[in-house]
Amino acid sequence: MNSQQGTFEFAETPEWQNAANEDVMVAEVVFNLPLERPYTYAIPDTIRDRIKAGQRVKAPLGRGNRSVVGYCVAVRPADQSQRVLKPISELLDSEPLLDERMLELTRWIAERYLCGWGQVLDSVIPAGVRRKSGTREVQSFILTPGNEEKLTTTRFSRQQKAVIEILQKSSDPIAATDLCERAVCGPAPLNSLRKKGLITALRVRSDITGDELATFEQQQDLELNDQQQLALDRILQPIRASEYETLLLHGVTGSGKTEVYIRAIREVVSYGRQAIVLVPEISLTPQTIRRFRSRFNSVAVLHSHMTDAERHWQWQQIASGGIEVIVGARSAVFAPTPHLGLIVIDEEHEPSFKQDSTPRYHAREVARKRCLDEKVPLILGSATPTLESWLRAQRKIDALVSMPSRVAERPLPPVVIVDTRDDPRIKRGSSIGRALFQAITRALNEKGQVILFLNLRGYSPTVWCRSCGTGIKCPNCDVTLTWHRDRQAAVCHSCDYEIPPPKVCPKCESPTVRYLGTGTQKLDEEVQNTFPNARVLRMDSDSMKKPGSHDEALNKFRHGEVEILLGTQMIAKGLDFPNVTLVGVVDADTMLRQPDMRAAERTFQLIAQVAGRTGRGERGGRVLVQTTCPNDPAVKFASKHDFIGFAQHELAERHDGQAPPFSHVARVIFRGPDEDRVRRTARDVADKLRAARKGTTKDVRILGAAPAPVIRLRTLWRFHLQIAGKTPELVRELWQSVESSLTLPEGVELAVDVDPINAR
Ligand code: ADP
Ligand code: ZN
Ligand code: ZN
Repeated sequence: MNSQQGTFEFAETPEWQNAANEDVMVAEVVFNLPLERPYTYAIPDTIRDRIKAGQRVKAPLGRGNRSVVGYCVAVRPADQSQRVLKPISELLDSEPLLDERMLELTRWIAERYLCGWGQVLDSVIPAGVRRKSGTREVQSFILTPGNEEKLTTTRFSRQQKAVIEILQKSSDPIAATDLCERAVCGPAPLNSLRKKGLITALRVRSDITGDELATFEQQQDLELNDQQQLALDRILQPIRASEYETLLLHGVTGSGKTEVYIRAIREVVSYGRQAIVLVPEISLTPQTIRRFRSRFNSVAVLHSHMTDAERHWQWQQIASGGIEVIVGARSAVFAPTPHLGLIVIDEEHEPSFKQDSTPRYHAREVARKRCLDEKVPLILGSATPTLESWLRAQRKIDALVSMPSRVAERPLPPVVIVDTRDDPRIKRGSSIGRALFQAITRALNEKGQVILFLNLRGYSPTVWCRSCGTGIKCPNCDVTLTWHRDRQAAVCHSCDYEIPPPKVCPKCESPTVRYLGTGTQKLDEEVQNTFPNARVLRMDSDSMKKPGSHDEALNKFRHGEVEILLGTQMIAKGLDFPNVTLVGVVDADTMLRQPDMRAAERTFQLIAQVAGRTGRGERGGRVLVQTTCPNDPAVKFASKHDFIGFAQHELAERHDGQAPPFSHVARVIFRGPDEDRVRRTARDVADKLRAARKGTTKDVRILGAAPAPVIRLRTLWRFHLQIAGKTPELVRELWQSVESSLTLPEGVELAVDVDPINAR
């Protein structure tokens, strides 16, 4: 296909003649290109004995036969017709970077998400692993964590003892040569200690601090309540049978799901297997990590702001089998565990499990496929599952495990919907209505803590011209600028474009520029003015830029140094503070009004999640939701904590419109600097798809081409079309039948998003 990267053609001239030998082997190679099919190359004698699937190679590609890095995905006997092939120019790795199973998984992702196999490999294998693997590495050693007892009870030779003592004193890995020199020994003691599992070899020096290796004080398991025990018993069935099964653990916030995961993982670890726990990036807090570290000996944490070296080190640790539990964000689904036993996805409804750039995979679907292949169970946990997962459970494709009550019989907090349409305070321009004002006053008087949630950051979310009556937009995007008062700037939240606030309207030149609406910064100011005796803390991506500031802020709140915590999504997830007696949703409309098929679902999820932040202690708590749409079903169901009712209602709506989860969608986005050309291309492709669909099944539809909801982004014009079908296969087949013959005009590129969740 000739899409994103322009046209690629093969040179016609034969370059290299294979001996006409019956057992000639060839290599299949994929590149970081949007092509699913591999290229076939001849294997030169010099690397014949060493080349394996999973290694990187350099091979000539394209018109100029430039040598390009690619991944060897198979080594197989040549076909009769393949006598004349170009040879691989260089073998880059001494060992495969990933095994057969991971190769198959990445191939599946390329097929499922309609992108290049090489693109998937490039994204899945950490950069540090790719870079380090080709070079010769220093082998370094650490003491294998969790063996303290064995170290005191085992008898060692004098040299072994010396090695152990040196490693005990060091918080960093020590290179083998250094170690031998300092312990005055040869490699033999190292090898025997390694065989006993007491020391672990790393292939690079790591810049990980001692903290990563520190063993945490281990805590006892809690005694499960009946509800948790029932859930665990059900989950243990497929674990004990070594079977694939997806279990949807639907448990309200505070029902003790994490405790159930921990016990399921304990079972898996007792078999010598590893477990992967995926959590949303935003929940990858020290609090979460501590929870796992205090229960298991060796926990690896994979998050997105690790250095290449750290990532590489972790990757090797995991591959060596020295890790019991891997906790990480989306990409941890690829952790190279030698003997996987279980995958858990906590908060499975979180949109961050879907990658927003190629390959646009959803970690849940990748996990499902991986678990199926490796015959292990998958647990999806949530208080508010996606309708996709819920429907599968309803249809009994996946198992449903329910935990409808909170731990210790604590009730879910009452949720009060406040209609702000006639609120006197709101009419005066405040964003805290009368009821919320009174509730905050009372909570503070009773020495409780308050969480206020608002989904908009900045000071005012709209810079607006009163004469034109429209928002002033970013010159690069079809997005209204946000006023950031602290920086004295009008900012585009899509491309980070920033200008001093315009004195006159760029369109009509009237001096009538105004700022509309309330973001977290303005709310912060208002709350401080309204409750001058309360200490207020704001958490949003502007105020939490410094690494560690997130944890620091939460610690302040936990220790009671702050009475009112306000912020965006950041404060809606996973926090567990018993002293929070009031949660206010300042404006539920901001979520409801999104031009997105999932607006209702997101609104329900958000209210349920923020409601989960209160009533966790003995003091109870309550939730106030301010809205101008008090009768909206999502708001009403959320106020009753009625997920099942909401799911039924929303599924009926989706069924009527044949929207997901009743259909499968691939969204094709066209972008380019020339609006007209992008529009024409999108229409052309839509026509081709319609033509290709004729005469085939009626179970697939083409919607559009149409302008994308954000028609301009980072100076590029955007149009899109959608292919919706009964099954993912129907959608894929139709797209592939057209894709191979597409030639995009200069300056237009396309991206395919399968199962899109971002409507932008
Ligand atoms: P969820 O993940 O479902 O929101 P958590 O696992 O965070 O719930 O549990 C909520 C709180 O209840 C936590 O503070 C946890 O330590 C506590 N908890 C969980 N299970 C038990 C139990 N069996 N006995 C006592 N406390 C528990
Ligand atoms: Zn104007
Ligand atoms: Zn912009």
